[in-house]
Amino acid sequence: NLARKILIAGNWKMNGLSGQLEEVRKISEGCSATMGEVDILVCPPATLLRTVRDAAHSDLLVGAQNCHAKEKGAHTGDISAEMLRDAGASHVIVGHSERRADHSECCATVRSKLVAAHRAGLVAIVCIGETLEEREAGEALRVLESQLENSLHDDVTAGNTIIAYEPIWAIGTGKTASAEDVAEVHSHLRRRLVERFGQETGTSLRLLYGGSVQPTNAASLLSVADVDGALVGGASLKAQDFLAICEAA
Ligand code: PEP
Repeated sequence: NLARKILIAGNWKMNGLSGQLEEVRKISEGCSATMGEVDILVCPPATLLRTVRDAAHSDLLVGAQNCHAKEKGAHTGDISAEMLRDAGASHVIVGHSERRADHSECCATVRSKLVAAHRAGLVAIVCIGETLEEREAGEALRVLESQLENSLHDDVTAGNTIIAYEPIWAIGTGKTASAEDVAEVHSHLRRRLVERFGQETGTSLRLLYGGSVQPTNAASLLSVADVDGALVGGASLKAQDFLAICEAA
């Protein structure tokens, strides 16, 4: 679909200190040629948002990895979507499986964070993914459908929301889903999005794949129908690898 510009998003997770900004400059310089055709996003830890935003080329998108649902108030240690925006973010990841697991975030929590992201004017990347047990039990599509249904709210548009399918067993493990499995999941999710949001929005929403995307497998994963980009963890920490993935797109 020509309307769905490819997005390569890097999730640094809890990695990165101000002394390591050389990688950002390399990414920023290295991808300036690719940025017209492909959207490129880096999501550093919140402590580095402002620094990365200031260090990067203006076309490089900068996002956060999580937000609180409330705008402000007595929530010690939390960061609101408005604060992320104020620190230079245009995007925020919500519902990453590590947050769902480490912080017991359920779909209702993820949905409230999605509402917060939109309230603050951020584009949200909503992550969903099945466990290995669920896949082996033949439950993957049912689980994903339920996460998709319950993590989204009704005012989702292609401009404010991106979906990332990240099978949990493929994250940080070096295992990737097969092209057939990714194709099956993405076409299923596409159908559900069209049913819920109508033809125009449903076919315009971008669907990313995430889970051990590397320079070596990026081109084949990105060639799968209905894969509109990648969410990259480990390989986004090295400029060389991340740039190779961007170029594969
Ligand atoms: C992620 O955590 O979003 C991810 C896909 O990680 P990795 O690429 O390291 O598997």
